[in-house]
Amino acid sequence: YAGAGSGHDRYFYEHQADMVAGAVAPPKLELANQDLVKSHIYSIWLSKAGINFGDSMNQILDLEKSEYPLKADLMEQLQAAQEPVTFQKCLDATRSILADAFCQTDLERVSWYGAAWLEQTLDHALTAFDRACDRWRKLYGAAVEQRDESLQMINRVTAGNATKQEKDVADRSQREAQRQIDILVGQNQSKNNSQFEFYPYRYFASEGFLPGFNFPRLPVRAYIPTGRDKGDYISRPRNLAIREMAPGNILYHEGSKFKIDRTKRFTKGNENEYQRLVVCHSCGYFHTSVVDICENCGQKPTADKQGKPANITKVLEMDTMSTRRRERITCDEEDRLKSGYQINTYFQFTDHRKESAIVADADGTTLLKLTYGETAEIMRLNRGLRSTKEWGFRLDTGTGQWVTAANAQSNSSANIETDVHLLVKDTSNILLIEVTDLPEQNPEAFTATLQYALARSLQNLYKLESAELGTERLGEKGNQILFWEAAEGGAGVLSQILEDPQSFQKLANAAQEICHFHKEKNSCAQACYECLLSYGNQWDHALLNRHMIGGFLKQLRGSRIDRHAAGVSREEQYQKLYSQTDPNSDYERVVLEAIYQQGIKLPDTAQLLIAEANCKPDFIYTAQKLAIFCDGSVHDSPEQRQRDEIIRDDLQYVAGYTVLTFHYRQDQDLTAKLAELKALLN
Ligand SMILES: [Zn+2]
Ligand SMILES: [Zn+2]
Repeated sequence: YAGAGSGHDRYFYEHQADMVAGAVAPPKLELANQDLVKSHIYSIWLSKAGINFGDSMNQILDLEKSEYPLKADLMEQLQAAQEPVTFQKCLDATRSILADAFCQTDLERVSWYGAAWLEQTLDHALTAFDRACDRWRKLYGAAVEQRDESLQMINRVTAGNATKQEKDVADRSQREAQRQIDILVGQNQSKNNSQFEFYPYRYFASEGFLPGFNFPRLPVRAYIPTGRDKGDYISRPRNLAIREMAPGNILYHEGSKFKIDRTKRFTKGNENEYQRLVVCHSCGYFHTSVVDICENCGQKPTADKQGKPANITKVLEMDTMSTRRRERITCDEEDRLKSGYQINTYFQFTDHRKESAIVADADGTTLLKLTYGETAEIMRLNRGLRSTKEWGFRLDTGTGQWVTAANAQSNSSANIETDVHLLVKDTSNILLIEVTDLPEQNPEAFTATLQYALARSLQNLYKLESAELGTERLGEKGNQILFWEAAEGGAGVLSQILEDPQSFQKLANAAQEICHFHKEKNSCAQACYECLLSYGNQWDHALLNRHMIGGFLKQLRGSRIDRHAAGVSREEQYQKLYSQTDPNSDYERVVLEAIYQQGIKLPDTAQLLIAEANCKPDFIYTAQKLAIFCDGSVHDSPEQRQRDEIIRDDLQYVAGYTVLTFHYRQDQDLTAKLAELKALLN
């Protein structure tokens, strides 16, 4: 079908020739997606280990032992697969599959892939498998705990120590827990195996451990009590769950209404389960530890215009929710929900490839700044209902109940915490576009219009569905647009944009066509469903006006991407690195100066911590994954030399870096070392 609300479908309706003629679109599946490659490696490992899961998680985990470890016989089989002979077989099998020409082309473009990575991933398979069981263990453990506590209460009633009312509550709670347990182990379920949420193969695919494209990876689940002894878990992709499964929201399921009522309660003795975040409202970057200045833009993170704080101390990653059936929704409730939730998107670069470029017009004027980040982190934060005056939600940590205006009177618990924020995270390739010069009139409308025009052009040029490309405007300056590859497995298109100097000429041409500039459509005054509007962007409809970007698109038609002129000048970069060197190490500055004087490409960072190897190389070239050490006289002692060796081995074999060491005594060889560096950079 072609939905009127789907710009993508409408476009191909109008351009039917493109559907059947023209060049075949390149494959959209990003074969060099780390998660995807890992899941294939794991499935090869399981098959070489000769594992058959059976049809229930109770065949995999020992439910009679505390913490539900892997069953002893399964554990034995899996450990045997880690023995050298089988391990080598697995390694050979994965190598031969990944040696496929399609895979290799993609894999060559990424920084993380290599022989060491492959070996390490296989080495880690057993641990990864065990960790993939954790979400199930948590669900099962919570249900068992609920059942046991209800039974205790029922016993107290029998002993005459509790009321009839308490018995009713306990009865209901016990039935619900039993139903959850049954679903988790696949008992008394009417669905056939492949549809059943916790069928092992399906479960491990949804955990991202095994390949699977039909259901979302690491979804958020909600339990729905559909009848007296009936219930079901439903799952939603994380980026939708942040809104749909938020506290107080109403879910519609098989004709009934269910309200999101509870999440898991805090375990005793582990009261503080919160994460902490510092977000930069200026650029949209997030930090998981306290920082004075933003790592991305250098500004001091402060509250935003509405007063939303930058420092958020109570953040919970979204976990399984429980719902309660609601016969009727009150008008008050409906009004509160109608205005929606305050959801903000933030991002963070990881230490994978990151590249910058500028888009300049024919005169050399910079129009856009681009930053591409490979496997960056995207975070969506739910900061509470728009209709309330407070940030975040109220949570009764003793019971896990969300305290909303509707149930506040009946909950008088002393464990109610305020300002609780919910988050979901995702890993994705991202492209950040910064408009250098915003018009003075209506800057927000300009950026929003450009955002959707570019989104539609990207979809058309790279043959993407609208759901495969995420986009959001970031930061208070209003000049930043974030795009990310939202499809499972990634689409691999965003990195291609920087590789083609004419990408923005092509995108602008496509945008002009979409916005009716090639063939004027008089009935479209500002925007219509054929050009910029869609149901997905209805919050922004009032802002969109195609005429605002007409002149800018013309400039982009004559633009070029320059990958070298981005960011700071060579002199500035040198000064920055110089100031970051260790004050006690003159030799670092000797090496840096030599690199600078000889016109060799300067490193990207100095003294940056590589967490996987727990060390700070003196300099790093990010794209090449090359670490430079400059050893002064303190590195001469035997103890220090041994320490250095261990750390640098870790850096090579665990973190996958190439290591180049300059040594102060080899002064005469500095020239030779610099030549070596040059060769590594090419
Ligand atoms: Zn910032
Ligand atoms: Zn239009």
